[in-house]
Amino acid sequence: APAMRKINEKYDKVFVEGCVEPDTSKPRANAAFVILARNKEIDGVIQSIKSVERHFNRWYHYPYVFLNDGDFDDNFKETIRNHTSGEVEFGKVGPEMWGFPDWIDPAVAQEGIAKQGDAAVMYGGLESYHKMCRFYSGFFFNHPLLLKYEWYWRVEPEISYFCDITYDPFQRMIETNKTYGFTIAVKELRETVPNMFRYASAYKRLHNLTSKGLWEMFVVPPEDQEQDEEPPKDSDSPGGDIPRTSPKKNTKPIIDPESMEGEKYNMCHFWSNFEIAKLSWFRSKEYQDFFEMMDRSGGFWMERWGDAPIHSLAAGALLGPQDIHYFRDFGYRHTTIQHCPSNAPGLQLPRESFLEQTTLNDRARFEEDDYWEHWDAPQEGGVGCRCR
Ligand code: GDP
Ligand code: MN
Repeated sequence: APAMRKINEKYDKVFVEGCVEPDTSKPRANAAFVILARNKEIDGVIQSIKSVERHFNRWYHYPYVFLNDGDFDDNFKETIRNHTSGEVEFGKVGPEMWGFPDWIDPAVAQEGIAKQGDAAVMYGGLESYHKMCRFYSGFFFNHPLLLKYEWYWRVEPEISYFCDITYDPFQRMIETNKTYGFTIAVKELRETVPNMFRYASAYKRLHNLTSKGLWEMFVVPPEDQEQDEEPPKDSDSPGGDIPRTSPKKNTKPIIDPESMEGEKYNMCHFWSNFEIAKLSWFRSKEYQDFFEMMDRSGGFWMERWGDAPIHSLAAGALLGPQDIHYFRDFGYRHTTIQHCPSNAPGLQLPRESFLEQTTLNDRARFEEDDYWEHWDAPQEGGVGCRCR
């Protein structure tokens, strides 16, 4: 208990204080909510916005940017305007950020996607889902409507917040010099990313990057690795071999797979449907190089790489724990997974040495099956959050 109090005093003042009067003394940061959605998702979007407004934005009035690969209809726009207290913009995502890149043969990609559908990879057979993941991995931050912003807070349809957020998380991240904030970390479905880690690991090596202390969070410790286990290979992709060079333009050969390290991914990642992050990090040359190398592997098509593990492994390669903020004080749920601050088990398990330099707790890093605090949402409500 004393150790816990010490940690809380140092890192979790807001959590300890619980719901207080909102602090609106600071000016708004240069930030916006970003919501990618389709017209048919309007009900889920309104649910999310009501929750965001009720628990935060009615005091802070941050603007919203809605993005869509199609056109938002008048009903969507009108309904949104009736529920938001900040400025609203609606934008279209063009084919240069959404469609197939010119270096891949769409027929090859589509065949790979169909195979993933046959193999029952979750969302693997949905071309639109592959495009969405690639957009959120490599493009959203450069969408024309986002260029004027320095920070973003991602919102999805059908999310909810349980607790009032009575301070400005953007300002708090600026003050504490953070780059990336999350509230839930979970494990990825292995069959969606069989080869992702080999490529991420190769990126790190090719650029001579040494870990700043976050990379280890994603690696199975050597002592836990099965000795006789075969490392994954390109032919393990459920969509077929990841094309090593462009099928169309035979320009950029990507890395020699022999150069990939023998480390193994533990599947942990920050769940990106909630994310507060500094857009300049995504726009940086380092992140762009990372994305381009990952993209050139073909893994967004021949596998169903999610933007969440992409963001996470980029953070692992480029950032340190001190750059990451764990919003453990945010009560948050999306579909079946939630984080509830009042009974977060990780708070009872501080690992001082790691927490000295970070606001992360260590469960993801050191325990294979029990990473950070998330758990399946109970069927009925009443999860015990103290906040209103
Ligand atoms: P899940 O949370 O992984 O089950 O995936 P979702 O279906 O929630 O998709 C993630 C985000 O991308 C949500 O904000 C969706 O509204 C959005 N999204 C997914 N597919 C498409 C698409 O084809 N078009 C548009 N405009 N948005 C999409
Ligand atoms: Mn979703």
